[in-house]
Amino acid sequence: MSKKLENKVAVITGGSSGIGLATAKRFVAEGAYVFIIGRRQSQLDEAVKEIGSNVTAVQGDVSNLEDIDRLYSVVAKEKGKLDIIVASAGIVERVLLENATPEHFDNLFNINVRAAYFTVQKALPFLNDGGSVVLVASSAHLVGVPEHSVYSATKAALRSFSRTFSAELAGRKIRVNTLSPGPVDTPIFETQADTKEGQEAIKQLYAGFLPMQRIGKPEEIAAAALFLASDESSFSIGIDLLSDGGQTQL
Ligand code: NAD
Repeated sequence: MSKKLENKVAVITGGSSGIGLATAKRFVAEGAYVFIIGRRQSQLDEAVKEIGSNVTAVQGDVSNLEDIDRLYSVVAKEKGKLDIIVASAGIVERVLLENATPEHFDNLFNINVRAAYFTVQKALPFLNDGGSVVLVASSAHLVGVPEHSVYSATKAALRSFSRTFSAELAGRKIRVNTLSPGPVDTPIFETQADTKEGQEAIKQLYAGFLPMQRIGKPEEIAAAALFLASDESSFSIGIDLLSDGGQTQL
């Protein structure tokens, strides 16, 4: 079977962990060269080992615009072109409305929204016509989950970007779509509870809410990202692809 991303160059933010890492592995298996950016060098080194080949890691914080510029200068120098962006870097912090601080609000919007916005904007001089952008949102933006008001709003913002960016970039045949996973088994749960037992309990709780009675695997979301990034989705623009075990649909 022919590979779906032969000779494509992709930038994957948050590509050293979870959904981003699974996506990087899948894209390389499909023939792509990937650039991953993440904050921790040790985690990037591990990810490069795991991905194996056709990968460059750039250490940086996507909420720092100079780091995004540096990322694209590396892409331009090493490959001279860019076909795909997957903006997967993101954080979740659970806080009730009554307890939320301005710092919580700003931190989530800075990393989940502002960084994704400028990750796309700053790619525009390098991104090929016909390129594909995948913004990793969340099924949370479609429902009301207590303690997730700011997080869900950041993901609703991404969903909105996919429509407006697509409208602005359609002339260049650049498609922008959001991918909204439901709960997926990634290291993001390590930020949700201090102990392994606590993390497992949260995963079980979320699994119980889903019609499929299980949370997702990063590889399942990577498969959806591959669909959106490749020509397989050539007639999909400005959509929000749900991969959520039925959470928002049944
Ligand atoms: P993860 O924690 O495994 O991966 C997120 C990655 O983003 C990490 O490598 C982290 O270091 C990186 N990151 C965070 N802030 C960054 C910054 N400022 N600069 C550079 N890198 C940064 O989590 P994941 O589950 O793979 O999450 C990936 C995306 O999927 C996130 O946007 C998340 O909101 C979204 N999502 C996850 C789930 C889930 O249940 N796992 C569900 C819906 C949506």
